Amino acid sequence: TNQELLNQQEQRESNARSYPRRFPLAIQEAEGVYITDVEGNRYIDCLAGAGTLALGHNHPVVIEAMEKVLHDRLPLHTLDLTTEVKEQFVDELFASLPEGFRDRAKVQFCGPTGGDAVEAALKLAKTATGRQSILTFQGGYHGSTHGTMSVSGNLAAKKRVQGLVPDTHFLPYPYDYRCPFGKGGRKGAEINAVYIEQLLDDPESGILPPAAMIFETVQGEGGSIPASIEWLQEMRRITKERGIPLIIDEVQTGIGRTGKLFSFEHAGIIPDAFVLSKAIGGSLPLSVVVYDRDLDSWEPGAHIGTFRGNQMAMAAGTATLKYVKEQNLSLHAQKMGEKLINSLKELQRLYPQLGDVRGRGLMVGVEIVDPSGTAVLNGSYPADPELTNRIQKSCFDRGLILECGGRHGAVLRFLPPLIITEEQIETVVSILKKAIAASVK
Ligand code: PMP
Repeated sequence: TNQELLNQQEQRESNARSYPRRFPLAIQEAEGVYITDVEGNRYIDCLAGAGTLALGHNHPVVIEAMEKVLHDRLPLHTLDLTTEVKEQFVDELFASLPEGFRDRAKVQFCGPTGGDAVEAALKLAKTATGRQSILTFQGGYHGSTHGTMSVSGNLAAKKRVQGLVPDTHFLPYPYDYRCPFGKGGRKGAEINAVYIEQLLDDPESGILPPAAMIFETVQGEGGSIPASIEWLQEMRRITKERGIPLIIDEVQTGIGRTGKLFSFEHAGIIPDAFVLSKAIGGSLPLSVVVYDRDLDSWEPGAHIGTFRGNQMAMAAGTATLKYVKEQNLSLHAQKMGEKLINSLKELQRLYPQLGDVRGRGLMVGVEIVDPSGTAVLNGSYPADPELTNRIQKSCFDRGLILECGGRHGAVLRFLPPLIITEEQIETVVSILKKAIAASVK
C-alpha cells in the first residue's frame, strides 16, 4: 500500500527533501500527464518532475531513444569522452540556438543537476572577469548547493547555513503583484532599472564591479513570476553597457515551457551564458551551460565532475528537443498556458482568495491571499499559505498534483507536461474549482 512504502521512506530517508513529503503516495506507473499510485489511484501530474517532463511520462520518442542506446550496446557513461550520441546532442542543441548566438556558442557539460551547471556558469563568469561580486534577485532560485543557495533569494533553508558565498547582492525582481516600484510594463521596468543603476554607481552600496548578473526570466520556485519583456531588455542593456556577463537560468523555463524554446527569446535578447537542465535530458539527469566564446577562460579541469557523460540522457534529450521543435510544442505551451490563465482568471472573479493569476506559457501560478486582510501596494492582500495548503491537499484528494511555492508559500504552481491537451486543462481547472469551493471558509 501507499502507507507501507511511505513508512519505509519515513524511517530510512533523510529529511532534506521536499516534494514527496506533501504527497502521500507511492507511484506505481506513469504515462503522459498521468501517474498512478500503488493502490490504483490516478492523478494528473502538474508538477511533472518539477518541470523536467516536457513530453510527459514515458513518451514514445524518449523510450525509443533510450531503447536504441541499449539495443546498440552503446556505452552508458563516458565521462567527458565524446561519442556520436553526444555530438548529435550538441548538433541539435546548437541548431536550436538563436542565430546571433549559434556561431559564438560553446557548451559545457555539467553534472548532472541544474545546480551544478549554475555553479559552473558563476565560476566561468568569475574566471573570465577576474571579479567577485554577483548580482542576483530577490525570490530567485538557482539550486541547493553551497554556491547556488548563496545566490537564491528568500529561501527559508538559508537561515540555518552560516557563511554562504559573500559579495552576493540581491536586487528587486519585478514581482508586479507585490512590487514596491509599481506595476510592470515599460514604466515599471525603467524605474527598476534606474534603481539598479544607482546602486551600481553608489560606492556606499558595497557592490564591486560585478562578475555576473544572474536571473530567471520567470521565477519558478519563487512563485511563477514572469519578469516583463521590457525589464528583461533593460537588464540586458545595463549589463551590456557595464560589461557585466549576463547569465540566464533556463533550468525551468527552457525547452519550450514558456512559449519559446528558450525564454530569453521572448525579449529578443541574448545572454552571455545560459543554463539548461531538467527538460534538456528528456527526463534523465543532464545539465549544460551554453556560453559566448568571449567568456571562454576555462583551463582544463576548471569545472570537473564524474557524471557528465550520461549517454542515455543525451539520447533522450536529443529526441525531446527534436520533438518539441517538430511538433512546435512551444506554441502549444503558449496556447495551453493562455487557456489555463484565462480559466483561472474566471475563477478569480468568483473567489477573491485568488489574489493574482500570472504566468508565461505553461509556467503558471495563482497567488492565494486573505481578502479580509489589509491591501497594500498594488492592491495585494496578505498571502495565505494555510489556505494554499488546504487547496493543494483537496486537489490531491481529487486526483490533481500541484506544487505550492513562492516567497510566502502561497502560490499554487502549474507546471504540466507541454503535451497537455485542452480537455486535460479543463479537467485541471474543474478539479481546482471544486477544491477551492471545499477549502475556502
Ligand atoms: N535553477 C532553477 C531555475 C530551478 O528551478 C532549479 C530546480 N528547481 C535549479 C536551478 C536547480 O536544479 P537542480 O535541482 O537540478 O540542482
